[in-house]
Amino acid sequence: MVDMEGISGILRKSQVMGNEAHYQEGRRYLTADANACIEGCFAGGATKVVVRDAHCTGYNFIWDQLDPRAEYVQGMPPIERISDIDSFDGVILLGYHAMAGTGGA
Ligand SMILES: [Zn+2]
Repeated sequence: MVDMEGISGILRKSQVMGNEAHYQEGRRYLTADANACIEGCFAGGATKVVVRDAHCTGYNFIWDQLDPRAEYVQGMPPIERISDIDSFDGVILLGYHAMAGTGGA
């Protein structure tokens, strides 16, 4: 599960909002962090990696730069973020953050 606000190099709102000046920069950081995580999963012995873009509309990755070994879920499903999640050995919450307005987060 990959969100955008906590990704390496993200430090301003304009990097995570689709209509803002620095959004493309944010997408590059997001894609790079996802690829690094995928690499780590396979290096650690994973045989299957499923990556879900969980930021906003779920269409933030730069698709032609993503690691082709992983499977990807895009868009926002109406009910579950990842179906059959109980069948996975683990879940990584990459780039996640506390809810907006949470004190001390
Ligand atoms: Zn987000």
